Amino acid sequence: MSSFETRLQSGKRLGDYSTFGIGGPARYFFEARSFRDLEDAFAWVRSTSVPYFILGKGSNCLFDDLGFDGLVIRNKIDFCEMEDQRVHVGAGASFSLLGKHTARRGLSGLEFACGIPGTVGGAIFMNAGANGQETSTCLHDVLFLSESGDQRKIFKEELSFAYRTSPFQKLRGALLSACFFLHRAPEAHGTQKLILKKRIETQPYQEKSAGCMFRNPSRDLSAGALIDRCGLKGVKVGNAQVSELHANFLINSGRATSADVKALIELVRTRVYEKTQIFLDLEVRIL
Ligand SMILES: Cc1cc2nc3c(=O)[nH]c(=O)nc-3n(C[C@H](O)[C@H](O)[C@H](O)COP(=O)(O)OP(=O)(O)OC[C@H]3O[C@@H](n4cnc5c(N)ncnc54)[C@H](O)[C@@H]3O)c2cc1C
Repeated sequence: MSSFETRLQSGKRLGDYSTFGIGGPARYFFEARSFRDLEDAFAWVRSTSVPYFILGKGSNCLFDDLGFDGLVIRNKIDFCEMEDQRVHVGAGASFSLLGKHTARRGLSGLEFACGIPGTVGGAIFMNAGANGQETSTCLHDVLFLSESGDQRKIFKEELSFAYRTSPFQKLRGALLSACFFLHRAPEAHGTQKLILKKRIETQPYQEKSAGCMFRNPSRDLSAGALIDRCGLKGVKVGNAQVSELHANFLINSGRATSADVKALIELVRTRVYEKTQIFLDLEVRIL
């Protein structure tokens, strides 16, 4: 039996791997700790045709109560090498710690990352951002493994990113690692601490959620402000609730099911559309 097959698990509850705390069992579950692990996982996927899903920290996903009838590959490729202003990091490394450690070294570009509870791979995939900064800005290149098993270094210039959008959302494969190029700024650590303080004050940080549920309709109009204006803060469906602190956060206030969250999403969308004629697109990915 191959190392992949001996480490292949089944029946893992996805709620334990998502910041929402929601989700039934995965038929197959595998933790990839190296590039080789991911290559082996894709080889298995090709030979079995089992559907797969690449999971980081599950901080931008809503899983179904019924689980996932396929293979969940959890990216745990976690390393970090820093040399001057260049940082080479595994796609499974913590994005929040990356932001904290680079800022502490007086390197600017990823201060906003501190407090975003995802992996580096998830942040690049989503082009995560906050406080006017986003992941792609200081990205230099990535190493990408296609589903067919080809590894390729792709430079930022070859990729087009936009608000919470990356080309990887349309590609089949997995991010393995990334290089960021940061610039020196003695104030980076102070900025990072201020951003984190503001985040803790304005977001329901201790609650179970997947961060902002909806994309902002435009640069000047936040989804949170729209939902708030429609009087929806605190509104509940089952055990899912619109946060009282930040209206774009839907939280699992107890034993919420994926059906509760989906019904709340529809309620919010309908009310916002009725009052403003604006349709809110999802930022969170529903599996
Ligand atoms: C409290 C809280 C605060 C948040 N604040 C912010 C914020 O300020 N700004 C912001 O942008 N987001 C924020 N988020 C959302 C979330 O943390 C980010 O989108 C994060 O980048 C997702 O990373 P992840 O590893 O958890 O990805 P996951 O949720 O695990 O996956 C998200 C998507 O990325 C794909 N993916 C993950 N890793 C890889 C990989 N290696 N290769 C290919 N595809 C991959 C998955 O298949 C999935 O489609 C917040 C979430 C929470 C819970």
